[in-house]
Amino acid sequence: MRFCTLLFCASIAFGVAFDTTITVTRAAEGVYVFSSGRDGHVRNLNSIAVVNEADVLIFDTNTRPATTRAVLAELRKITDKPVRWIVNSHWHPDHWSGNEVYAAEFPGVTIISTEETRDYMRNIAPAWPEMFAGRLRRMQQEATDSVEDREAIERYTGLVADTSALKRVYPNVVYRDRMNLHSGARRFELLSMCGDATASTVLYLPKEKTVLIGDLLAYPTQWGAQGSSLSAWIDSLHRLDAMDIETIVAGHGPVMHDKKYLRLVIELFETARKQVRELLLGGMVELADVQKAVKLGHLRPKFEEMAATFTTDCVRMAYLEARDGMNSVK
Ligand SMILES: [Zn+2]
Repeated sequence: MRFCTLLFCASIAFGVAFDTTITVTRAAEGVYVFSSGRDGHVRNLNSIAVVNEADVLIFDTNTRPATTRAVLAELRKITDKPVRWIVNSHWHPDHWSGNEVYAAEFPGVTIISTEETRDYMRNIAPAWPEMFAGRLRRMQQEATDSVEDREAIERYTGLVADTSALKRVYPNVVYRDRMNLHSGARRFELLSMCGDATASTVLYLPKEKTVLIGDLLAYPTQWGAQGSSLSAWIDSLHRLDAMDIETIVAGHGPVMHDKKYLRLVIELFETARKQVRELLLGGMVELADVQKAVKLGHLRPKFEEMAATFTTDCVRMAYLEARDGMNSVK
């Protein structure tokens, strides 16, 4: 049976620019997707609750604790069962910065990620307050007097304040490669895969044929990665394609009930990789030249929104991978 029922929307006002409207969608039996709007860092962000016989598992916990509190308020309209498990798909700040809200509300909650993800969190998160503050200063310097710019700065100012005040709560159970969890009749398979972050967790519910994939996909704009490998990402997408799945919940965007978008992204990645390899074998050297020579425009009509920045990122990833991480020599 397929579910995709829009249950309700709720909104809490935190200023015009920080949108804490939560849209709740039922994706499968007991699987609820809480989607939030612009939070200063990202948009169309999903946090997912799986309601089991006696407890709840939360997959990803937002960029800002205020959003997480709004999600928790919505969850309370669905069930009063305790949150026993949290799974953080990867280390990017929009997927685990609300851990502290659940840790305070449910002392002893088990927070799970891959071992690599926890290491990345511990290594990178301490830099974020200053990194975000620096970005805010650049935004303020470059801003015009437009309403859009003013709202963006207001949102980002709030994000910087929240990030500085955060008490980071890290995963307390880690795994490598794969791990199974059981809660009553519910069975979960946690699989380490590559998305826009290395060693991301994909959570598979085999009985429900439903998979929660973090940012292995993001809709409608697929973005690039900072450090992960394009080929490892492509391999993970093929692995997903081979799985018995009816419902896909990505880290961003609506619930998907087919593999159409998954296959489009595979086509985009493989086309970029093939062209980059051919250009390098043909003697091209500089990244800027490769960026200009790769032609991905024929794929554009297949995507609702294919951002130029993403296609550039994707070519850069293929270029660096083909040269074992070595950039152009200037
Ligand atoms: Zn994300």
